[in-house]
Amino acid sequence: MGIASNSICYDLHSHTIASDGELSPTELVKRAVNNAVDVLAITDHDSISGIEEAKNIILENELPIKLINGVELSTLWDAQDIHIIGLNIDVKNTSLLILLDDHKKYRIERAKNISKKLTHFGIFDAYEHAKKYANGGIISRAHFARYMVDSGVVKDIPTAFRYYLSKGKKAYVAPKWCSIEKAVSIIHLAGGQAVLAHPMRYDLPRIKLRNLFNEFKQAGGDAIEISQSGQTEIAQHSLENYALEYEFLGSQGSDFHRLSHYFDLGDIRPFSHNIKPIWHDWALFL
Ligand code: AMP
Ligand code: MN
Ligand code: MN
Ligand code: MN
Repeated sequence: MGIASNSICYDLHSHTIASDGELSPTELVKRAVNNAVDVLAITDHDSISGIEEAKNIILENELPIKLINGVELSTLWDAQDIHIIGLNIDVKNTSLLILLDDHKKYRIERAKNISKKLTHFGIFDAYEHAKKYANGGIISRAHFARYMVDSGVVKDIPTAFRYYLSKGKKAYVAPKWCSIEKAVSIIHLAGGQAVLAHPMRYDLPRIKLRNLFNEFKQAGGDAIEISQSGQTEIAQHSLENYALEYEFLGSQGSDFHRLSHYFDLGDIRPFSHNIKPIWHDWALFL
């Protein structure tokens, strides 16, 4: 059983090289098994293409882990990037596949524009380099950041975001993501559950955070992520209260991207028993 609790360990938020994670689906699954994760969702940004390999490796090796089909959809709300996770989605659903294809195109268009802006700062061919880092997966600002670190433009990834890639910075390009309403409705069309990812990471003032919860609720959102890596106990406690108030189910996940000293797959603080977990009616262990 998991390192995070004495019962079943659920890690419902993780990334592979299909988006901006650094492990292949096979490596990710093996690490999750080593870390005693019992239920793992792969939730790549705007991509489901890591799931099949993960599923196959589990089947072929009879690994003791359940895989949940997931995705982390980028949405735009109040000129802000908001991430909506879909869990238990049908990865063959046509509406979902069309949305993912749209977002893939927006990502390429945005990446070319980011690259254009970077030329003003003496950074050339960044699009081609970032594309190489993406290696066939979706192209993300994280790939630009990695290129900028490796080529010596900045000392580390946070600096690349702080000076160039974050909202309002030198090479920022506004994204064209779909609305929260659309993301939730497509997740539901694909038979999945919609989870508002890491609500505290948007740094919204309390009134705006409440607006976000209200809109997500009105859109039919099912759950909020209560426990996620790097979050203080105080922040988690306030998310528990919001979940109770707005009657959201609770979800949790490491948001694992890469090996680091800070957090790992399955490294999750359990949330209060007063909150109904998103997995309460999943038929996984029959
Ligand atoms: P994108 O989806 O292309 O807009 O890229 C966003 C991704 O970049 C996020 O999922 C994070 O993994 C990463 N990211 C965003 N902001 C930062 C930051 N300040 N430092 C490090 N990574 C970041
Ligand atoms: Mn990411
Ligand atoms: Mn996210
Ligand atoms: Mn994530």
